[in-house]
Amino acid sequence: MSEMHHVVCGNCGRINRLPAERASKDARCGACHQPIFTGHPIEVDEDGFGRHVANNDIPVLVDVWAPWCGPCRAMAPMFERAARQLEPKVRLLKLNSDKAPAVSSRLNIMGIPTLLLMRGGREIARQAGAMDMQDIVAWTEAGLARS
Ligand code: ZN
Repeated sequence: MSEMHHVVCGNCGRINRLPAERASKDARCGACHQPIFTGHPIEVDEDGFGRHVANNDIPVLVDVWAPWCGPCRAMAPMFERAARQLEPKVRLLKLNSDKAPAVSSRLNIMGIPTLLLMRGGREIARQAGAMDMQDIVAWTEAGLARS
C-alpha cells in the first residue's frame, strides 16, 4: 500500500491525493488538470492561506510581504528561486499582509518580510528579515529537520 498525502492545487484550490513516495513534481490536478507544482510560489488571500495551511500534508513556507516594502521586493526573486529548489517537498505561498490583515494579526506578524514555516496547521519556524535563496532553502531544511 502506498502512502498518500494531500496537496492543495495552486491553480484551483482542489485538494489532491498524491502518492507520498513518488516525485509529485509532474502531478496534475484532478479538477483543473494544471500542474500541481509549477516551480513558483502561489499568491494567496486570507481564504487561500487558510485552505493551504489546513489541507496540505506537505510543509508550507509562507512569505509575508507587502508591495510598498523594499526588502520584500528585493527578496521576491530569491523566494521564486527557492520554490524551484524546495518543490515538491514544500509548498511556497506569498501572503500580501495589506490584503490579509486578519491573518497577519492572528499570526502576530511584527514586521515584513517574515517567513513562516508551517506543517499540519502549526507554525514550526519563523524568521524576520530578507534572506537570499541559499539561506531560505537552508533555513527551511533546518526547520524541517528540527520539527
Ligand atoms: Zn486544480
